[in-house]
Amino acid sequence: MTYRYVLKLDIDWRPDDGWIEEWRRARVLVLEKMYGYRVEHFYIAPSQRGFHAWIHIASKKRLSDEDINRLQFVLGDDATRCKINAEKIKNGLSDWNRLFSRVIWRRKSKYYVRCEYCGNVIPLVGFVRKEECGGGDG
Ligand SMILES: [Zn+2]
Repeated sequence: MTYRYVLKLDIDWRPDDGWIEEWRRARVLVLEKMYGYRVEHFYIAPSQRGFHAWIHIASKKRLSDEDINRLQFVLGDDATRCKINAEKIKNGLSDWNRLFSRVIWRRKSKYYVRCEYCGNVIPLVGFVRKEECGGGDG
């Protein structure tokens, strides 16, 4: 049995592309070598001040909401967001991991959304929007 999950990270500073590429490779290394998951997709979308990342992983075992939040913390998700998410999980909120809820405006295949946590506007391409707005456990 293979389980698939999407990890969502909110990073509030955007260094140059070389740093981000190194950051991306380090996340993949931790997920695959330390935890044994398979990274299937890794999307990075720049926001006004920082960037957001969606990491699609495949796992042999089922992961709980707490597992997902802990992984996001380990991978560098904003600590205050992790804390708020832990509260939401404790309170039984199924939609706890949402980064954004609605599209602000759209230009060609790009969608602009506002992050629910940091308030930054994020330009996204269509597939990420569909995934995020599709609901479920993301
Ligand atoms: Zn954000």
